[in-house]
Amino acid sequence: MSEVKTAIVTGSSSGIGLGIAEGFAAKGMNIVMNGIEPSEQIEPLRKNLQDTHGVDAIYIEANIMKPDGVRLLMSTAEDAFGRIDVLVNNAGIQYVAPVEEFPEDKWEAIIALNLSAAFHTTRAVVPGMKARGWGRIINIASAHGLVASPFKSAYVSAKHGLVGLTKTVALEVAEHGITVNAICPGYVWTPLVEKQIPDTAAARGITEEEVKRDVLLAAQPTKEFVSVEHMAALANFLCSSEASSITGASLPVDGGWVAQ
Ligand code: NAD
Repeated sequence: MSEVKTAIVTGSSSGIGLGIAEGFAAKGMNIVMNGIEPSEQIEPLRKNLQDTHGVDAIYIEANIMKPDGVRLLMSTAEDAFGRIDVLVNNAGIQYVAPVEEFPEDKWEAIIALNLSAAFHTTRAVVPGMKARGWGRIINIASAHGLVASPFKSAYVSAKHGLVGLTKTVALEVAEHGITVNAICPGYVWTPLVEKQIPDTAAARGITEEEVKRDVLLAAQPTKEFVSVEHMAALANFLCSSEASSITGASLPVDGGWVAQ
């Protein structure tokens, strides 16, 4: 990259989003972090990103489940940096229940954050990317963007929708130097996953190792969690010039999950 790029990563106050933000900062990109936590709470992470990598990083607290939240995020980012070169739609939530019991408000919330937010952010960044003739849009879908599991109707629907949005926008912007891809992770080792393990072990009367292998990684043939660093490495590769012919793709990073 010849000039300093700016990347916005939604839901980057923890987990995969934070890992991708760190990976981008390590490559010299300026970073717009986002999440729903108050700025004071995220300030040490933002400062660390900025100081460690010598880039500019800002954090914007914005609930992007609502179009107003997306507008706040995008306009604050644009005011700060004047350009968005890379957009990662990462913020997402999950809820698990049989379809006939699935709460309507959970359905609406999951579709709003995991799918509609990506539509709103994408339509905001495409004009600037077209004008500059370069852009990268990366949607963090899931293995559940390609295959289903029971009791996750909203999540699986939203992630399949996100894969569809990825393909459609990729076709629309293909001649403008912009690529649009989805990364489809299996289980990724994040603080959220780590925290569930003791409770699940206690609830099922099994060891923590058994929870990892037989519960969480039941569908993941490698029996290894995906690491946040692996996610960041792929996101960085998709931003490189060598990846300019990869577009409209849904790339599984899932230890073989969707090969089954
Ligand atoms: P996480 O719970 O660690 O982080 C979620 C992030 O989203 C946080 O920064 C939070 O502030 C932000 N967020 C939540 N609600 C928001 C809202 N309304 N507006 C703006 N930001 C909001 O999540 P994670 O495990 O790192 O997952 C990140 C993405 O990866 C999600 O889309 C998830 O579906 C996907 N994914 C995760 C895994 C996994 O194993 N962790 C597997 C497949 C896909």
